[in-house]
Amino acid sequence: MDRIADIWGTRTPHDRATVWPARVDSYLADGITEAQVDKWVSSACLLCSNGCGCDIAVKDGRMVGIRGRGTDVINHGRLGPKGLYGSTPFASSGDRLTRPLIREGGELVETTWDVAMGKVVEVSQRLLREKGPLSHGFYTSGQLFLEEYYTLAVIGKAGIGTPHMDGNTRLCTATAAAAMKESFGCDGQPGSYTDIDWCDALFLFGHNMPETQTVLWMRVLDRISGGQPPKIVCVDPRRTMVADAAERTGGVHLAPRPGTNQALMNGLTRELIVNGWHDRAWIDAHTLGFDDLAAIVEPYTPEHVGDICDIDPADLRRAAAVFGESERVLSTVLQGFYQSHQATAASVAVNNLHLLRGMIGKPGAGILQMNGQPTAQNNRECGADGDLPGFRNWDNEKHVQELAALWNVDPLVIPHWAPPTHAMQMMRYVEQGSISFLWISATNPAVSMPESARIRAILSGDQCFVVVQDLFLTETARLADVVLPAAGWGEKTGTFTNVTRTVHLSDKAVEPPGEARSDLDIFLLYAERMGFTDSDTAPLVRWRTPEEAFAAWQECSRGRPVDYTGLSYEQLRGPTGIAWPCNADAPDGTDRLYTDPVFPTDTDQCENYGHDLLTGGTVTRQEYQAIDPAGRAFLKGAPYQPPHEQVSADYPLLYSTGRTVYHFHTRTKTARARALQQAAPDAWVELSQHDAEALGIAEGDRVSVQSPRGRIEVQARIGRVRPGAVFAPFHYGYWDLDAAGPDGGPARDANELTMTIWDPVSKQPLFKTAACRVTKIGDATEPAPAPSTAASAPPQGRPAPATAGGEPTGARIVTTPHYPNDPSLGTDSPAPASTVAGSAR
Ligand code: SF4
Repeated sequence: MDRIADIWGTRTPHDRATVWPARVDSYLADGITEAQVDKWVSSACLLCSNGCGCDIAVKDGRMVGIRGRGTDVINHGRLGPKGLYGSTPFASSGDRLTRPLIREGGELVETTWDVAMGKVVEVSQRLLREKGPLSHGFYTSGQLFLEEYYTLAVIGKAGIGTPHMDGNTRLCTATAAAAMKESFGCDGQPGSYTDIDWCDALFLFGHNMPETQTVLWMRVLDRISGGQPPKIVCVDPRRTMVADAAERTGGVHLAPRPGTNQALMNGLTRELIVNGWHDRAWIDAHTLGFDDLAAIVEPYTPEHVGDICDIDPADLRRAAAVFGESERVLSTVLQGFYQSHQATAASVAVNNLHLLRGMIGKPGAGILQMNGQPTAQNNRECGADGDLPGFRNWDNEKHVQELAALWNVDPLVIPHWAPPTHAMQMMRYVEQGSISFLWISATNPAVSMPESARIRAILSGDQCFVVVQDLFLTETARLADVVLPAAGWGEKTGTFTNVTRTVHLSDKAVEPPGEARSDLDIFLLYAERMGFTDSDTAPLVRWRTPEEAFAAWQECSRGRPVDYTGLSYEQLRGPTGIAWPCNADAPDGTDRLYTDPVFPTDTDQCENYGHDLLTGGTVTRQEYQAIDPAGRAFLKGAPYQPPHEQVSADYPLLYSTGRTVYHFHTRTKTARARALQQAAPDAWVELSQHDAEALGIAEGDRVSVQSPRGRIEVQARIGRVRPGAVFAPFHYGYWDLDAAGPDGGPARDANELTMTIWDPVSKQPLFKTAACRVTKIGDATEPAPAPSTAASAPPQGRPAPATAGGEPTGARIVTTPHYPNDPSLGTDSPAPASTVAGSAR
């Protein structure tokens, strides 16, 4: 099967409350057969946040393919196009970094590890002497392993002592964490993917699941194809495949004007309250804040919301009725909410809907505040994003003392006098020169951060020494002073944790190329050369291997909500990933949280004391203690505020960026997979038919898209966005063009137009609400290079150029699966029958 043309593969329908059948997907390159594979190495896919269990095919020391694990609770064997075609080609790409580079005379030239790390350590030590720890910043990723994040966190917090640590998770999942802290007291996903198997209704809030987590959407499609399908409700200004499913299932598609999510959520909340679709007894027993919330949402009648959002009030009422009258509702939330203004308020509002109905901690009644990246969860858990490790509260002396004792350092070394510095603020400090040493690992801010021209100027200036650690000479690495070649997926060992807290172990399958080293080894080398020690002058970082680092992390997690102490590498080499908390009380892991329902909101347990959702103002410890939440969740609200940048005569359209199905982030890996790159080879912009006609633009025409900050020139797709909105994929930078953008050619990076502004609580920058204008600059010679298989397809009824070209893949449907850690399937579901025949293990 060509899985470029058929993204989601063959349906395996199943009824509500039955086990999702297994289908083992596989792909082998170069005509290799399974019989020719030397070995299969256990792992999980690293190309989105879904965390599909898989095995890597190895032949002659090369990764040559991948196979889904039929026994894994996450994917039941399935893999999507990115996982199948994109997982392994990067490893043997001819342009991998194989030696360290150092800038000499303005050029990056090859050097030895000794020279490169010697330079890093020399600059680092000098700046620590001259300017102190605040001269250092670390900007990392959502794609390293847990062991690497934890090591980096210990180096940054206890070795250097800087609060300037964050990850690109700030751009994608900071709001997920913030929303869970505000509602439940602590990060940690309440729900489970098994909720899809149980739910009666599924709400997707700003979540284009068919493209961002293709395997999760297969699970939804299989429910829709089976008995008692769930009603789908889609909140998205584009007519995505989710919107199509909403129509098919008797649900609703709400396409609000960009920048109005909070008004829409206030309207839905009000409908639950005024129609009595809430459980007052449960609310009184398990939550705080109902009266304040009810007062905030009271003005948001369907008609008022209809005016703000430009939607039919009847559609809002219908959507609210689906939520209010369904027995089990599952909600998912992603970038449409997280990357908008009022991001945390709108995401908390989703939590509120569930708390109002007592719909949490029960099969089918879950919340999935999604992650955008495969290991974003670990970054948040381990504190490489600036939070304290183990979901500890920087403002709680007891939590700081715990870490100081664990690391045997003075508590004053650990930065806790103010909130950690978020990524956008870090870039400002780099711009101003107060951060003079910035270490960027496994991320590409020159393309992915807002206002690309500003970020390029910041990173290329001589006010800051920039270290970049990556697989390739990315747009960011080209601006660095030292570039360190890193090993990638399959070339190193470590664990990572997906959206649903499920931990997988990824074993090393092959050697990295040349002198590339694992990110863990690079951090360990830096720690050793810097001579970081604890209070007894023993080495601060006492581990040398991934498994030892994992053990150190387990101690850090002990007793916290994110408890890993019951896990081991040996256990994780078993048939499936395992969800935390996993400890003596829950040796098989925990499928969903808050079944009691007791929330980690006690003063000395919570991860922070909360915020005013409108302003971001913090709640103090004294104020929090006075509230005395005592295990109850918070209902919090905020009135709607218009977005910062409004349309005008000069910039009459609203611009948003996003991900599409065949690429991940800035294409560092996916562009090196032939089938994926061919399916979406270049940037484009999507306009509604209405706006295109008004502007005299036809399919494939070359257009200029301009905001007050920048401009790109790309081809136009007459697409499925609502009138007044413009959509651009953010995958396309410049590394694979001869001359473009910063080198003098036409720009295509979607972030040339976005702005430096962020949500007041999560500090997540906004990518969904910038004003722009679109102008035709050339006639079409061919259709836009946008795929025609998903939401970037032309509207129904218009001819769509075919998107195909994937090499054949395998798929084997298994009808009697056994999922060892699937307790939520419970006693009222059909019992698993046997092990998977011919499964990956
Ligand atoms: S859904 Fe995500 S994790 Fe699963 S195969 Fe696709 S890219 Fe990989």
